[in-house]
Amino acid sequence: MKISIAKRSGFCMGVRRAVDIVFEASNRYTEPIYTFGPLIHNPQVMALLGEKGISVIDSIPKEGSGIVIIRAHGVPPDTVERLEKAGFKVIDATCPRVIKVQTIIARHFAQGFASIIIGDSEHPEVVGLMGYAGDKGVVVNSLEGVKQLPVFEKAIVVAQTTQSTALFEQIRTWIEENHPHYKVFNTICPSTRERQTETARLAGEVDAMVVVGGYTSGNTRRLASICTESGKPVFHVETSEQLDKKSLGTFDHVGVTAGASTPDWIIKEPRCSGAARLRCPMF
Ligand code: SF4
Repeated sequence: MKISIAKRSGFCMGVRRAVDIVFEASNRYTEPIYTFGPLIHNPQVMALLGEKGISVIDSIPKEGSGIVIIRAHGVPPDTVERLEKAGFKVIDATCPRVIKVQTIIARHFAQGFASIIIGDSEHPEVVGLMGYAGDKGVVVNSLEGVKQLPVFEKAIVVAQTTQSTALFEQIRTWIEENHPHYKVFNTICPSTRERQTETARLAGEVDAMVVVGGYTSGNTRRLASICTESGKPVFHVETSEQLDKKSLGTFDHVGVTAGASTPDWIIKEPRCSGAARLRCPMF
């Protein structure tokens, strides 16, 4: 069987940077270290962090101590203030590309613009972005949703950095035709765009696709749906043990892609498991 692995699979710059920041902090500080929410949507990486004594907090206690690391998704601006007030030292690992979107929203909110955010309302990045939009933020995840919005005197349109480029373009076209006074910013991360384009191309060339990444990872699920649209069989797994090897063995050419929160050692399993994994500089 021929296996083709997408070149743009695995950790993106922002996730790699956040993981590096967490490990650097665990080597440097003796105080307890927490991440605010799971660092990434990958249970295997989260289990490894747990082994290193790094735990997760999901809410802000009245009082606390130790270090809290803000993950790549970012948080609403008042979250950092509240964490510091509770007694934590905060290390911000928000991805610079997410900070760019936060800045666009904050700048326009100060000028009276509403913010239309194309994304998943529950996604932590979107929750963080909404915090910069004040009382003028709305989240939509479909063209229908955009059509149902009231007409704003002044509005910007931005996207969650891992949104589907196809959906964004569809909405942009409709906005340009119907509300040409809105300012549209394509804030989809280049790494997401390239990953989705390469995944669609690879899915068109192979007999079946394997998508590796957390079941709760939005960007991984989006890759799986791009593969499904190609009409080819799709195997979405978190680890190699979950692969249906019997079914997979019936295909001559299999493509592999992975979400932005999937480490290389999982994509390359079993070659990169066990001792090799422990030697990996990442861990
Ligand atoms: S997908 Fe892009 S914006 Fe999101 S964390 Fe990764 S590099 Fe940053």
